[in-house]
Amino acid sequence: MKRLEDYQEIVGDEVIFRIHNKMTKLYGKHVVHVNSTYQGGGVAEMLSSLVPLMNDIGLDAGWRILHGNPDFFGITKKFHNALQGDPLHFTHIKRDLYVNNNEDFSQFTHLDHDACIIHDPQPLPLVRFYKKRQPWIWRCHIDLTDPNQRLWNFLKSFILKYDLVIVSNEKYLRKDLPVKQIIIPPAIDPLSPKNKPLTEYTIQKTMKKFRVPLNKPIITQISRFDKWKDPEGVIDIYREVRKAIDCRLVLCGSMASDDPEGYKIYSKIMKKHDALIKKRELILLTTENSILVNALQRQANVVIQKSTREGFGLTVTEALWKGKPVIASNIGGIPLQIQDGESGFLIDPQDKKGTVEKVISLLKNPEMGIEMGEKGKEHVRKNFLIVRLLENYLDLLAEVIK
Ligand code: UDP
Repeated sequence: MKRLEDYQEIVGDEVIFRIHNKMTKLYGKHVVHVNSTYQGGGVAEMLSSLVPLMNDIGLDAGWRILHGNPDFFGITKKFHNALQGDPLHFTHIKRDLYVNNNEDFSQFTHLDHDACIIHDPQPLPLVRFYKKRQPWIWRCHIDLTDPNQRLWNFLKSFILKYDLVIVSNEKYLRKDLPVKQIIIPPAIDPLSPKNKPLTEYTIQKTMKKFRVPLNKPIITQISRFDKWKDPEGVIDIYREVRKAIDCRLVLCGSMASDDPEGYKIYSKIMKKHDALIKKRELILLTTENSILVNALQRQANVVIQKSTREGFGLTVTEALWKGKPVIASNIGGIPLQIQDGESGFLIDPQDKKGTVEKVISLLKNPEMGIEMGEKGKEHVRKNFLIVRLLENYLDLLAEVIK
């Protein structure tokens, strides 16, 4: 069970008091979140903490998962890629399958709550299939700076039915959208299995269970096997770094049910880097396991996030919370989290040489990493913990629920 009071020591009395106070207006209101996967990826991660906390403080909050077949998720993944700038062959078949899947879901899912919060593009069209008696909020977790225009115009026809749009970053606000837009950055749960403190014994036992030897420094990137996370780029960096310092790279990426590309990318890497993998210099992990992620982030000497697009990058937040030095791309939501040279390093994802140098310098100067990690952790404590996200939702629900 999640209890707000358990966070008191981390966030302070005042925050907890404010939240209870804000609830007096909302007590007993009924809200629902809809997204498209219960595990894998940042949205599921946040909802699994946010929804129980909402219920704990007296808001009746539900969480529904959009059903879909592999064709549907194949299409929505293509849409996701196109919203982040990829070309898209936009056909009637794709459009119809996307919309019809949402209509089918609406036939067996009652959404008669005081507010409906719809996450990301997969369930976006649902709004068309209900008698809209309450505020509908579209919570977009994606980088919207350069969407495929044709797709965006099509999606807009649904977005215009919403009362409010939430984006993660000021950069994603859309001038071409008359709907009210607000910015709410994502957050992590410091008490979830993924982020809670672990004993040294648990960390070592977990590393042993997943056959990660501890005889060399570890570099890690924890991310779905997704081209925007650039796992191949991380391996390139690693190949250069190991010429200077003997170390190991662990890529940990579980498979999300709404991301059909993961296995393809994973298999390609397996084939291409067979020799390194056989020697267990490069370790690929695909198990969905929060303690594994937690232990790996704590064990790592350097955490990398070499994404080329990143709505926010919860993996960066998680690593900073563990006081780790993080080297991450200066894109999307990442610069909100890292002050370059202070609480980590921001890199240009195309700058291989510069990134290699930063990894080597952190491996050579662990005390620099410790100092950066402390600053990073404090920044997360102040800005990116789940209690702050909960408060943001209370503020906006109080505003939209009549
Ligand atoms: N994640 C995980 N296991 C993995 C890889 C990732 O649990 O093997 C989690 C990760 O810890 C984070 C989320 O998935 O909580 C990824 O969120 P992020 O915002 O970084 O990226 P997204 O996948 O949403 O694009």
